Amino acid sequence: MKLAVTVSPVELDAPMDGTDRLIVAEESATHVSVRDLGLTRGDGIFEVIGVANGVPQALAAHLRRLSWSAAMLDLPPLDLATIEAAVRKVIDVNEPAPELGVKIVVTRGIEGDAAPSASCWVTVIDSLGFERERLEGIAVVTLDRGYPHDIAARAPWLLAGAKTLSYAVNKAALREAARRGADDVLFVSSDGYLLEGPTSTLLLRIGNRVLTPATAQGVLPGTTQGSLFDFFADQGLVTAQALLRPADLARADGAWLASSVRLLAPIRAVDGEQQIVDNDLTRSANDFLLARTS
Ligand code: PLP
Repeated sequence: MKLAVTVSPVELDAPMDGTDRLIVAEESATHVSVRDLGLTRGDGIFEVIGVANGVPQALAAHLRRLSWSAAMLDLPPLDLATIEAAVRKVIDVNEPAPELGVKIVVTRGIEGDAAPSASCWVTVIDSLGFERERLEGIAVVTLDRGYPHDIAARAPWLLAGAKTLSYAVNKAALREAARRGADDVLFVSSDGYLLEGPTSTLLLRIGNRVLTPATAQGVLPGTTQGSLFDFFADQGLVTAQALLRPADLARADGAWLASSVRLLAPIRAVDGEQQIVDNDLTRSANDFLLARTS
C-alpha cells in the first residue's frame, strides 16, 4: 500500500501555515477532478526526484526547476517550502527502501473554476530494475525530434526545456525504440544536433572533456547532469555544454543517459553501432550519486 500527499488548500501561493496543509491518504483513496487541466490537457508540470536511503537527492535543484517550469507555463508562483515539506512527508510515511523515486505534480487546476488555482500532489514510485542498466548499459536509437536546435529562442511557446506533463510524445518515442529493439532514444534536432533522451540527459566523454548539449537547445536542464559535472570535475575532467553532432558519438570514450532515478546508464550501442563503455567511471559516478546527502 502506498501513501500519497496532497497539498491543500490548492492555492499554492497562499501564505504558508506549517505542514498542516498536507493531507496524507492511501493512493487508491485520493481523487483528481475529471476537469483537472493536468488530466484533460496535460497542462501542468512535474518533477521526479531520486531518494537514496531516505535522502531526497538534489532536492534544491529539483525545486528550482519546478519553479522555473511553473514560470514558463505562467502558473502562479509556487510555495516551495510547502512542496518540500510534502516531499519529506511522503518519504516518511511510506515504507523505507534503499532507493525510491518521489514524483511532484502541479497542474493548472480545475477547468472553468471562477478563481483558478493549481492542484498539487506528491507520490512515491518504486525504483526497480535499474541496476542492470547501470551495469550492462543500454542500446539507444536516434530519432528526429522534428524541430531545430534553436527552438527555445525561436518559439518559446512550445515550452522546450520545461518539464511539462505533456509526455505523450516522449512515451511514443520510447515505444518506437522498443519496436526497433532498443532500450531508449536519443533525440536529434531537425538540423542534426544531439539533444537528450525522452526522460534523460546525454553526456559524452571525449578525451578529458565531458560534454552535454546546451540548455539553449531546448533540452531540460538535468539535475543529475548538474551533480555529475561536480563529480567529473573532481576527477580532473573538463565539463562543458556543447553543440554535439551524431558523428561525435563515434569518437566518444564514453556516452551515458543520466536521470534522477535510473542515474547514469552507459550507452553501449547507438543505432546498432557499438559504443565504448567505461565501466569503472560509470560505477564510481553512480556510487557518487547514491552517496549524495542533499
Ligand atoms: N530530459 C528529460 C526530457 C527528462 O524528462 C529528464 C528527467 O526526467 C531529464 C532530461 C533528466 O533530468 P534529471 O536528471 O533532473 O532527472
